[in-house]
Amino acid sequence: MPTIYRIQCKACGKGPKVDNGLAGWVATDGREGGEILPDGYLALRLDDGEFKPLPHPAEASTLRGLGFTWKEAARQNRLFRVTFKICRTCGCLCEERQHNDWRTGCLAALISIPLTMILLKFVVNCSWGASLFGAYLSTFAIFGVVSLFNWTRWRKPNRELKLKKCPRCGMAEFTTISRAAGKALMCPHCQTQNMRCNVAGIS
Ligand SMILES: [Zn+2]
Ligand SMILES: [Zn+2]
Repeated sequence: MPTIYRIQCKACGKGPKVDNGLAGWVATDGREGGEILPDGYLALRLDDGEFKPLPHPAEASTLRGLGFTWKEAARQNRLFRVTFKICRTCGCLCEERQHNDWRTGCLAALISIPLTMILLKFVVNCSWGASLFGAYLSTFAIFGVVSLFNWTRWRKPNRELKLKKCPRCGMAEFTTISRAAGKALMCPHCQTQNMRCNVAGIS
C-alpha cells in the first residue's frame, strides 16, 4: 500500500510536472490542484527503452496487458523501481530508476515455510510450536539472504543508474518525496521556497 503525496506550491498553486501519465492512475483526496504522487513506482522497460509504469495494485494485469509475465520480465531484467527525486536547488522532479527484483525474495521466503516446518518437525524432532516458530524465523533469514544477493547482483548497474545531477540546473542534491513530507521545497515554476509535500492518502 504505497503512500501518496500531494505536492503543491503555496505561492503559485502549481505542482511539479510529471510525464509518463502517472498522475492519471493515482487516487486523489478530492482536493484540487498540485500533483498527486507516490514516492515511487514499479516500471517495466520495453524493447525501445521506454519505461511503462505498473500502477499499484494492478501491477500484474498491467504487465499482462503489455505481454509479459512476472517471471519473463524478471528474467529479462526489465523490472525497475522508479523513485522520484526532487532537486533541492530548483525543485525539478526527476526519476531515478533502479533494478528491482523483490518478488524472488518473497517467493523464496514463502516456499521456505513448509520446507523448514517439515525439516524441524520430522528430521530434528521439534514440537509443532517450535517448528512453526523456526519456519517463521527462517523466512526472515531467507528474505535477508535473497535481498543481499539481489543487492550484490544489482549493485554495479544500479550505481551507474543513479541520478547524478539535475537535468535542469546541474546540481547534485536531491531529496525524495517521502523525506520531503511536511517541508518546504523550491518551486520549479515561481522559484520561491513554497512548494509543500503532504501525505494525501494511500493508493
Ligand atoms: Zn535542479
Ligand atoms: Zn510556485
